[in-house]
Amino acid sequence: GGFESLNLSYNVFRAIKRRGYIVPTPIQRKAMPVILAGSDVVAMARTGSGKTAAFLIPMLEKLQQHVPQGGIRALILSPTRDLALQTLKFTKELGRYTDLRTSLLVGGDSMESQFEELAQNPDIVIATPGRLMHHLSEVDDMTLRTVEYVVFDEADSLFGMGFADQLHKILNQLSENRQTLLFSATLPSALAEFAKAGLHDPQTIRL
Ligand code: AMP
Repeated sequence: GGFESLNLSYNVFRAIKRRGYIVPTPIQRKAMPVILAGSDVVAMARTGSGKTAAFLIPMLEKLQQHVPQGGIRALILSPTRDLALQTLKFTKELGRYTDLRTSLLVGGDSMESQFEELAQNPDIVIATPGRLMHHLSEVDDMTLRTVEYVVFDEADSLFGMGFADQLHKILNQLSENRQTLLFSATLPSALAEFAKAGLHDPQTIRL
């Protein structure tokens, strides 16, 4: 049940080792094989469990390298700017041996600098819902149709902060054959409804 048993590509595996991770945490041990196999997942996990790497490692394994003109291939939605920044830092560390491009779309930074980042054809976008919707409304040729892998991180906070409408709108812009992951400490009924609408036959993972 170690990282070795996941048969990860060398560029992902050695970034994990360089980060100093020796064995997967319980949520990683349960979630990563299921995600790597392609299932949608609802994972009940809180901050401190190692949940971020649990969705970043399979994401990096699936994306591998930058695809020119590939569009946005992975989308991570975070409830706060701080969490998005933290996730970006993790993505850069675990993706250090790849040439994948990542853009951060959060409130508080200028739209202009984010337009420039989007013009670099990022493979991965890490966003807060409000700022992502703002970009989608401003830029005619921006599309989420190319997204293959989407993560709703700390989904209970996303809902608690009143992003429900925006999350449903984002869901509607995604293609049908994406893989969808929802990470949350709790599963209130509004969130369970959302999971039912947005995830296909999800596996539920509890610790
Ligand atoms: P998270 O729950 O994603 O916020 O992660 C909490 C902390 O656990 C972070 O500092 C991670 O770097 C660390 N972490 C994640 N996975 C592992 C692992 N397999 N071994 C040791 N530390 C880890």
